[in-house]
Amino acid sequence: MDEEGPECGKPDFVLLDQVTMEDFMENLKLRFEKGRIYTYIGEVLVSVNPYQELPLYGPEAIAKYQGRELYERPPHLYAVANAAYGAMKRRSRDTCIVISGESGAGKTEASKHIMQYIAAVTNPSQRAEVDRVKDVLLKSTCVLEAFGNARTNRNHNSSRFGKYMDINFDFKGDPIGGHIHSYLLEKSRVLKQHVGERNFHAFYQVLRGCEDAELRNLHLQRNPAVYNFTRQGAGLSALESDERSHYLAVMEAMRVIGFSAEEVGSVHRILAAILHLGNIEFVETEAAGPEQGHLAVAEELLVDHVAELTATPRDLVLRCLLSRTVASGGRELIEKGHTAAEASYARDACAKAVYQRLFEWVVNRINGVMETRGRDPRRDGKDTVIGVLDIYGFEVFPVNSFEQFCINYCNEKLQQLFIQLILKQEQEEYEREGIAWQSSLDTHHRHHPHYTSRQLCPTDKTMEFGRDFRIKHYAGDVTYSVEGFIDKNRDHLFQDFKRLMYNSSDPTLRAMWPDGQQDITEVTKRPLTAGTLFKNSMVALVENLASKEPFYVRCIKPNEDKMAARLDEDHCRHQVVYLGLLENVRVRRAGFASRQPYPRFLLRYKMTCEYTWPNHLLGSDRAAVSALLEQHGLQGDVAFGHTKLFIRSPQTLVKLEQSRARLI
Ligand code: ADP
Ligand code: MG
Repeated sequence: MDEEGPECGKPDFVLLDQVTMEDFMENLKLRFEKGRIYTYIGEVLVSVNPYQELPLYGPEAIAKYQGRELYERPPHLYAVANAAYGAMKRRSRDTCIVISGESGAGKTEASKHIMQYIAAVTNPSQRAEVDRVKDVLLKSTCVLEAFGNARTNRNHNSSRFGKYMDINFDFKGDPIGGHIHSYLLEKSRVLKQHVGERNFHAFYQVLRGCEDAELRNLHLQRNPAVYNFTRQGAGLSALESDERSHYLAVMEAMRVIGFSAEEVGSVHRILAAILHLGNIEFVETEAAGPEQGHLAVAEELLVDHVAELTATPRDLVLRCLLSRTVASGGRELIEKGHTAAEASYARDACAKAVYQRLFEWVVNRINGVMETRGRDPRRDGKDTVIGVLDIYGFEVFPVNSFEQFCINYCNEKLQQLFIQLILKQEQEEYEREGIAWQSSLDTHHRHHPHYTSRQLCPTDKTMEFGRDFRIKHYAGDVTYSVEGFIDKNRDHLFQDFKRLMYNSSDPTLRAMWPDGQQDITEVTKRPLTAGTLFKNSMVALVENLASKEPFYVRCIKPNEDKMAARLDEDHCRHQVVYLGLLENVRVRRAGFASRQPYPRFLLRYKMTCEYTWPNHLLGSDRAAVSALLEQHGLQGDVAFGHTKLFIRSPQTLVKLEQSRARLI
């Protein structure tokens, strides 16, 4: 990575002459054109997806960033990873890296580069257990992407779940374990995809990748157009050879992680069962009307397949498809026949749930393998953590539903945390150090009504009465449609299906359904809604992040067409607004770019000044730092705290680094 000249624009937006949208965009664009996709706002990294392979990564680049301070090298993800790792190792601080941005902005790629950096700089003594953990950490991405990613219009490899990964380090700074939390898998994709989009990769990989013999055992045909759940995206398949090589890569990754051949077999059978389930259709028999619930399956062979692949009794599968058990009055159980519509609904709910449980099982299985082992008992509990959060950004579509509501709620929480952590922390530190500071926080607490609907605002014709409501998010207004909202929130699955799966003789499938052992009369009347579960998981996530030292990566998508070297200004401006980047620059400028305890500052720069090298005789470190800065003519850009030096602009740091570099 070559150093940057002024023709590359400002490496930190804090250095802009003025903080206006125009100046911001001009710098972003200039840097992008020069292949500089990374720019700082203080310690926050702004990243623009280049949509092309740039020579920025790999062992050589990693070596340039290893052990350096943030401002010593051009902005890079490796510098952020290094800073997080350094804080973790040197100061035993738990840290986290929060990566945000819209779909296709490069979040997941960023998280992979961070993981690669960490893998590359750890375990110099090549301990086998550490190598094993690193291998699983790196390979887990490939498996999770197979089950949790799909081709969408915005991103051909779009993560359809939020991911938070903890990496545990021992006192030597080597990774000894990890844990993945997944959030809100978009399971409705199992049933239906938009035009131009596909189901989760795993389905196509099995169809295209399995050997003929296995495919026959799964009763599957190669062509995804045969199945309702994969038909829509069938024409959008990657090259068949690519699909097969992905399939083989996932198989290999699963093997390395430690999935047994039996488990992989179960996974394939479950995927096949879902595809067959999707082709089951219902017909109302003439003998009786739907009120009597006399319903039949159009093609019974499919029921045979589902029963065989899930290792459950055929009669029970059929019964679950056509009826449900209800507890009437006391403890008496009666069987109630479905109407065709109810049966279709139940079938879909079952397909979605089976896939979701499969996904969660895969995540848990990987977690089991990464669980911290062999921890030194004398240091038990002393290991430190780096968390990496790769989660969906703020979303606004022409029609927004329950999923967007949850995703945007998540972004509200994260933004709130950002303000709390970055701004409050800063403010508190200034106060503690006795540094005067002018608050610009006020802009975040404007009072406005956050909720409107046609009912509350009858003249607003952009909302439909009784169908839409609007929320004023920090990132802008979003109108939500209530259609299907309550249903998605309730997320109902009949207990009969759960019990059916729990009684499977396939141990892997059975393990996914522990709640299937509950009796219908024991099942709580009102299970927690999807919204409540999501909210709870967000509260826990935010609490977790708040306990760590945060680093932020803000990703920007340069255009809607996945084109290399094209930055669409309107599109980017919008993202700059809702990522709150201008606010971020302003707050940062109101404050200071860097702060360092006096002894640490001296340790690094004392060689650049005759009064401080090799030791100073100036009474206090503070006085020595003052003398040093005066000699460099930099005293105008700093403030002296009780224990720390506060440096206003990164340029000052750059100058200090340069004079240091001339001497070593
Ligand atoms: P997100 O997770 O934000 O939805 P991804 O990380 O999946 O987005 O990135 C989408 C696509 O953009 C990737 O598949 C890749 O083709 C491209 N991309 C993202 N980041 C980079 C990068 N740093 N260098 C080259 N291509 C990238
Ligand atoms: Mg992603």
